[in-house]
Amino acid sequence: MAAPCRLKSMLALVTGGGSGIGRAICQRLSVEGASVVIVDLDKAAANASLQTLSRNLSGQEHAAFATDVSQANHVNSLMKKIQGQYSLPPRIAISSAGITKDEFLLRLSEESFDSVLNVNLKGPFLITQAVARAIVASGQNGGSIINIGSIVGKVGNLGQSNYAASKAGVEGLTKSAAKELAKFGIRCNTVLPGFISTPMTDKVPQKVLDKFAGMIPLGRLGDPEDIADVCAFLASDDSKYITGASIEVTGGLFL
Ligand code: NAD
Repeated sequence: MAAPCRLKSMLALVTGGGSGIGRAICQRLSVEGASVVIVDLDKAAANASLQTLSRNLSGQEHAAFATDVSQANHVNSLMKKIQGQYSLPPRIAISSAGITKDEFLLRLSEESFDSVLNVNLKGPFLITQAVARAIVASGQNGGSIINIGSIVGKVGNLGQSNYAASKAGVEGLTKSAAKELAKFGIRCNTVLPGFISTPMTDKVPQKVLDKFAGMIPLGRLGDPEDIADVCAFLASDDSKYITGASIEVTGGLFL
């Protein structure tokens, strides 16, 4: 069935758009008519995603930028470049950039804790704040901010205390932002993926993936497109009465 076209003429920013879930989100938003700004630390990966996007119906161009979302000065200069190119700020912002540095708590280094928190939690903070400030300053209220958390932020996971802490933080950040930004018409929601087949999970040993797959009621790991479906819904007016929500997309894992 063809995807609907709910995002015509909307400008959308997607971090981590060079790979996995972020790339699938960029593709889905472009199919739905949005102009997509792909943001990634890896410029070549962002450019590779750009080549896969659907032609834009409204005539605006897609774009790719190399940015480290954990650095405030990078995010500020990204916003200046976007507003220079498109005149208006993005009304859809999806933070999918994320990293893992797995280690058991007893051996976890301060550096591995800090770097995971910086990308996975500070990154969505900087993007949420920068996009919300730009929307408010533009005087054109309304927007949808979507942060990619993880089911691991709710239930914890062996070897992922840094990652679980960052993803629990993403939910708290997003729910608080939802309360503060509702008066500007900006909705903020978190998507909590379960285990999704991407380059990130390629690093997980096969026997661990098999164990989790056996625990998933729907009987398979998720595909990046399963997450993109929900992000497109949250970006669109089909979810206009939803804010501060966390939507689990896990195939039923940990029900
Ligand atoms: P991925 O590794 O395929 O993609 C992550 C992307 O983020 C990469 O392109 C990488 O270059 C980019 N990135 C990393 N650090 C960055 C930085 N500082 N600034 C900008 N970009 C940066 O991973 P994925 O599986 O697609 O994960 C996407 C999001 O979904 C992450 O937030 C991840 O934590 C979350 N998630 C994934 C799963 C899963 O099973 N794959 C499950 C739950 C949550």
